[in-house]
Amino acid sequence: MRKVGFFRSINVKFVIIYVLLILVAMQIIGVYFVKQLEETLRTNFQTSLTERVNLLAYNIVEEMEKERTPEDPTLEEDIKKILRDFSAVDISEVRVIDGRSMKILGTSDPNNQGVVGQRSTELRVKQTLTLEEEQSSILIDPQSGHRIWVLSKPIKSGKKVIGAIYLVAKIENVFEQMKTINGIFATGTGIALAITAVLGVLLAQTITRPISDLKKQAIAMTKGNFSRKVKVYGNDEIGTLAMTFNNLTKKLQEAQAMTEGERRKLSTVLSYMTDGVIATDRKGRVILINEPAAEMLDVSRETVLSQPIVSLLGLSDTNTFEDLLEEKDSLILDYSTKTKPYILRANFSVIQKETGFVNGLIAVLHDITEQEKINTERREFVANVSHELRTPLTTMRSYLEALADGAWKDEEIAPNFLEVTRTETERMIRLVNDLLTLSKMDSTDYMLSPEWVNFVSFFHSIIDRFEMSKEQNVTFKRMLPSNPIFVEIDEDKLTQVLYNIISNALKYSPEGGQVTFSIQEEEGRIIVSISDQGMGIPKENIGRIFDRFYRVDKARTRKLGGTGLGLAIAKEIINAHGGGIWATSQEGKGTVISFSLPYDGSEEDEWS
Ligand code: ADP
Repeated sequence: MRKVGFFRSINVKFVIIYVLLILVAMQIIGVYFVKQLEETLRTNFQTSLTERVNLLAYNIVEEMEKERTPEDPTLEEDIKKILRDFSAVDISEVRVIDGRSMKILGTSDPNNQGVVGQRSTELRVKQTLTLEEEQSSILIDPQSGHRIWVLSKPIKSGKKVIGAIYLVAKIENVFEQMKTINGIFATGTGIALAITAVLGVLLAQTITRPISDLKKQAIAMTKGNFSRKVKVYGNDEIGTLAMTFNNLTKKLQEAQAMTEGERRKLSTVLSYMTDGVIATDRKGRVILINEPAAEMLDVSRETVLSQPIVSLLGLSDTNTFEDLLEEKDSLILDYSTKTKPYILRANFSVIQKETGFVNGLIAVLHDITEQEKINTERREFVANVSHELRTPLTTMRSYLEALADGAWKDEEIAPNFLEVTRTETERMIRLVNDLLTLSKMDSTDYMLSPEWVNFVSFFHSIIDRFEMSKEQNVTFKRMLPSNPIFVEIDEDKLTQVLYNIISNALKYSPEGGQVTFSIQEEEGRIIVSISDQGMGIPKENIGRIFDRFYRVDKARTRKLGGTGLGLAIAKEIINAHGGGIWATSQEGKGTVISFSLPYDGSEEDEWS
């Protein structure tokens, strides 16, 4: 917050205005008043002296025109006498000058009697005598530096000028008086200003206090404090302003609380959404990204802010921000690597004002890796099933066509051909049965019916069955424990698992080979292994033999009558029992297929 400078504060401004107004008023009054006063004083001074000089002139005329006998005192003596009476405080000197000879007839200055009888050198006296006019002016006395008023007046006898009176008066007093009056005036002005300033401060406060309250409140509001209230001092405009301000504060507080609530709601919605959400400004820079979006793109929320969205989504090469604004369909973002598929779907919607001005863009990201995988699997599955069924059907058709074309008559070929069609039909039945089993296991209401079974004797009985029916020249080796091992299994399902695995072992065993059966007890589980000495499985395929329809050597295994579903079914069943299934193999030497089943060895005693 900017601090208001002292001279900018409204309080000081008020006082300065008051003081300036008073100062201007006093100045105008002062100038006019002093000028008038000075004029009056000076005129009075000059008039009173002029009158006295007139009287003096009258007396002097009388003396100058008087008939004199030698006994009578001289004119100079008489004038001296008159002038002696004439002396006054204001007058420095009065001289009487004879009009014809220009000689000084007398002076009132007792210290300057020496000039009597000399010719007057005064310029003004000369002018008076020649022009027969009164001369006056205010001069500065070079000796004292004071102002003096000199008056030179003609002495007239009738119309004839017979002499002049020269007066020097101390007018300085008048100016001194003016100075004193000015002083008084200035002091008065000073006092008036001081009182006005004090009053100004007090008066200004009645206006500025509510305003400064408003200011404080406004500052508090910008900091988010809405609890303060402005004091209402009266009903005037400022009072109304304060009241309105308080109302405004309340409304703002409500509005802010609402915005805050909305913001919180939005952020909760965003963070609990499973979809990723990214919002940008109008230039396409990220301004918001929720946690799921950050996780999906594997970025940290802090670092991506204000990054361009096209580069964040890795679209810089193919799309510009403008393309995204016009993108009507969703974009598929394929971030899959060789080892891991990862596909996102992005939908874009533009944030637009009513005027059509684009404010930003919202991108919603959805992880569709799983969905894509399921889609691909389904497509593959349908393709596989069609392919698996087409092969036996094509074989059967050609054999049946051959029979129809006359082969049925040939007693040697016909049974052979019929045998082939029978085998193919059986293969199709097996395939359909396997598919049905898998489909049953895929359905959600698939249930096992587990029972406690002694796995050792159960395993023996299955191996016995194979031993009796086997056509190949293969020996069986049983490495089974003598003690019973009780596990909770669905016997029918486990029979199918063992059937699938053992028939594979027999299928892929060489002539005179050996198939070994073993059970190992481990902590919390048993491991059942069936190993053969067949051609084995290449390392790169070993992980996939449990996939549906996967075969290592397609042509060969189909010949052996496999459907490619046997191990997939075994895996589903073992998983449903809470166990695992895997294969180890050495190419050319043999294969071991093992599966585990949950087993609690401590319960053994209860059964024995
Ligand atoms: P199939 O019915 O074709 O045998 P399976 O699901 O049982 O289908 O087996 C999948 C594939 O795994 C077989 O096609 C075969 O290539 C391979 N396989 C399974 N068991 C063995 C084994 N004991 N020795 C070698 N290859 C095997």
